[in-house]
Amino acid sequence: MARLEFFGVRGSHPTPRLNNLKFGGNTSCVVLYSDTDANKSYPIILDLGTGLTVFAGQQPLDGSFRGVAFLSHLHFDHIQGLPFFAPVDRAGAQLVIYGPSENGISLAESMGVLIGSPYFPVMLSDLSGEIVIGTIDENGIDLDQPGHPKVFPCLVDHTNATFGYRIEIDGKVIVYIPDHQAPSDNRRTKDSVLELCQSADILIHDAQYTNEEFGEKAHWGHSTYDFAMWIASRAMVKLLVFFHHDPRRSDHELEAIELHYQELAGPSGLRVLAAREGEALQI
Ligand SMILES: [Zn+2]
Ligand SMILES: [Zn+2]
Repeated sequence: MARLEFFGVRGSHPTPRLNNLKFGGNTSCVVLYSDTDANKSYPIILDLGTGLTVFAGQQPLDGSFRGVAFLSHLHFDHIQGLPFFAPVDRAGAQLVIYGPSENGISLAESMGVLIGSPYFPVMLSDLSGEIVIGTIDENGIDLDQPGHPKVFPCLVDHTNATFGYRIEIDGKVIVYIPDHQAPSDNRRTKDSVLELCQSADILIHDAQYTNEEFGEKAHWGHSTYDFAMWIASRAMVKLLVFFHHDPRRSDHELEAIELHYQELAGPSGLRVLAAREGEALQI
């Protein structure tokens, strides 16, 4: 068993509005714990969007924070929480971050530019705790942590270098692909993506657009609900979680979409949910 907690489920930008608070307005941040980690001492953080600031409120501020983050890519909605992550601004605290490099520019270099003057008043190196930027390739890494997690990245189509991740922990498989360009017919992807998703217990997947919306935004780097469903079916996924909700999508619309796809999946055995900020899933 493993535990997943959703702290930010929106795509593109934060969008706190009265009509979307059930699903939430913070951007991408999901946290995973091994079931053997009863004290939640070692979070595995998937993306550092503004949801990270909510997660921060539950973390120790005495320098004892330890955790690892896997960054899908460097778009604002996936990193904007990091400068405000107070638990790592304490002597003794440590956050390890893995993610893609792009065009020969390392992840450390990119983040060093982004978090520092004139964009932010302090630099990452000014923090009292330690941020370690690690490198990861498609061979994946074994973490010497509760549940013996193994994490495999895979480059997926988006507008820039972007990883999806497959995490094997406690004998379960969680796959996270928050931003993913759908093809025009919603029925094709790279073999490597299907392998990444194969037989996952949970697939958390970009589901930003309806087919009608996709007509106007076909090259914006995102998925339709149909494309997420197609991948989940082809890869024999058990539970598909729609993620990276369009910032304009209301609670009412999301509930209707969730119900529609649950009914569509009904006979196949595939379960479908739309991610909600503040909810946890036991796998
Ligand atoms: Zn995004
Ligand atoms: Zn993106």
